[in-house]
Amino acid sequence: MLNVPSQSFPAPRSQQRVAAGGRSKVPLKQGRSLMDWIRLTKSGKDLTGLKGRLIEVTEEELKKHNKKDDCWICIRGFVYNVSPYMEYHPGGEDELMRAAGSDGTELFDQVHRWVNYESMLKECLVGRMAVKPAVLKDYREEEKKVLNVKGGIKYGIQHSTSDVFSPVTSCNLDPGPYKIGTHLHIYIFSCLFLWAYLSLCGMLPKSQVTDTLAKEGPNYPSYDWFQTDSLVTIAIYTKQKDINLDSIIVDRQDDSFRAETIIKDCLYLIHIGLSREVQEDFSVRVIESVGKIEIVLKKKENTSWNFLGHPLENHHSLIPRKDTGLYYRKCQLISKEDVTHDTRLFCLMLPPSTHLQVPIGQHVYLKLSITGTEIVKPYTPVSGSLFSEFKEPVLPNNKYIYFLIKIYPTGLFTPELDRLQIGDFVSMSSPEGTFKISEFQELEDLFLLAAGTGFTPMVKILNYALTDIPTLRKVKLMFFNKTEDDIIWRSQLEKLAFKDKRLDVEFVLSAPTSEWNGKQGHISPALLSEFLKRNLDKSRVLVCICGPVPFTEQGIRLLHDLNFSKNEIHSFTA
Ligand code: FAD
Ligand code: NAP
Repeated sequence: MLNVPSQSFPAPRSQQRVAAGGRSKVPLKQGRSLMDWIRLTKSGKDLTGLKGRLIEVTEEELKKHNKKDDCWICIRGFVYNVSPYMEYHPGGEDELMRAAGSDGTELFDQVHRWVNYESMLKECLVGRMAVKPAVLKDYREEEKKVLNVKGGIKYGIQHSTSDVFSPVTSCNLDPGPYKIGTHLHIYIFSCLFLWAYLSLCGMLPKSQVTDTLAKEGPNYPSYDWFQTDSLVTIAIYTKQKDINLDSIIVDRQDDSFRAETIIKDCLYLIHIGLSREVQEDFSVRVIESVGKIEIVLKKKENTSWNFLGHPLENHHSLIPRKDTGLYYRKCQLISKEDVTHDTRLFCLMLPPSTHLQVPIGQHVYLKLSITGTEIVKPYTPVSGSLFSEFKEPVLPNNKYIYFLIKIYPTGLFTPELDRLQIGDFVSMSSPEGTFKISEFQELEDLFLLAAGTGFTPMVKILNYALTDIPTLRKVKLMFFNKTEDDIIWRSQLEKLAFKDKRLDVEFVLSAPTSEWNGKQGHISPALLSEFLKRNLDKSRVLVCICGPVPFTEQGIRLLHDLNFSKNEIHSFTA
């Protein structure tokens, strides 16, 4: 019975249906689902062939393991024997083989940077790549810089004298034991020692070290801090003008303070172990005209702080977003409400010591441990309703985040999510995505093409468009589903269209009952050419499209055929 291909895949009711040319999941043999893989990793079987030993792998050695039954791949400096995983990989064996015997980091990041491979492949870990002599110099340079910070030397840190808070100290961070000049030999020795130690422990992934601190210069962001009796203010100078409250994510846990500022395609990270205790809540404000962010912490005791704290991993570094790992915080499940027969509205609450706003059109990753393996899937936050201004609970700092999530009974993640009880926790990442609100600038016609849960990014877009785009004349949503029962928030959509004459909603069903007298079928030239009429010949138009990958890909092709330009189309993908 094993190894029989699933006859029903891609099942008519499955999200996995593939159109020609589409990158999607491939049908897996029976007994080869990701759940089966998790079971295998727990079976105690030796999956590396090394009986639990970890080895140092040279490039020459890695190259030798390039066959299906002997396939090693390096991801971020760690080498995995992926041969046992081949048959379980949702993207298929061929996709994995593209990186056989080589460094697959870039390929991996292109396709699914967010997949928690460390956990999924931990039983396949062969060891670390051997560090080449040429790389040693970089590490040493970087470690010197790390120690410079540790030693209290003002490294890339600027002070603002114009601030109302009194600057208390000239030393921002912990004046540790290293003093350059006085203890030069100890310092150099320590650099070498720390470098060697961190390299061996694998704490300094190559890409981050080389991409970060080297970028110092006049446009490099900086930070400073000030205090009053009761408050500590950390000021971040982004040196950019397009900064807003969505650009900054702050997490505080015990004494660790972490602030990620999104600056173009990079993250500027402030990561400090605070020297004294602060209260749970804090405030964040942005002075957009000068690109300055102020995070105001409340001291637990009204005493003067001599220094802010000590630097933690990657503190004061500007890292390309594609090279950063995803940071997760635990959110509590506050409520869960049925929306359709298989889709629920989940409400998660951020921890009190987190500031995070998910920008319109972006998604986050939710992470759960499923029988000991961490599984991560992307989800797009929505508003609590299409009339959210009346319904959303009033809480400071947008602490509630809503998700419309379809539960697939045979899926890996969603049944587990559905089993969570109110009060349970789920980890949530920082937001990601390419959609920018600037795409709405001077927009006149907005067309939304959504299939199934591909409706989720459209929710905030609809709310925003109807309230915040003064130039908007028309919004048209074409919503593809199988049956009437699958339509998410149908009555809300109908009410909204009734209330706001700029909105038209068209439902299209692929498997309707005989009573359905609306539109039928799949996305097609006929449906689109009739639907996508510009208001005026030269009106400023945007078409947003989201759904199963093949749906989206086909939609984009049809839109090009209908002469919509690249700039007039935004497709939502992972
Ligand atoms: P999976 O294990 O992925 O399975 C889904 C279905 O496919 C099941 O029926 C399963 O049996 C079948 N299947 C999977 N692989 C195979 C195979 N190889 N052979 C045969 N059958 C197979 N979803 C939402 O509901 N809401 C959102 O807001 C949302 N936002 C998203 C945002 C982005 C950017 C992306 C990329 C996806 C988003 N999704 C969203 C989809 C979501 O990430 C998950 O893919 C979805 O929840 C399914 O997860 P699962 O692990 O439960 O199911
Ligand atoms: P679904 O119910 O399976 O399908 C919704 C509609 O799309 C149905 O009418 C279906 O027709 C049609 N459809 C499916 N595959 C098609 C294809 N290849 N070509 C044309 N039409 C097709 O959808 P779902 O289960 O809710 O899945 C939603 C998908 O959206 C998931 O793949 C999810 O990952 C994705 N999503 C992406 C994002 C993002 O931001 N990237 C956000 C949310 C969701 P049939 O009846 O013929 O199947």
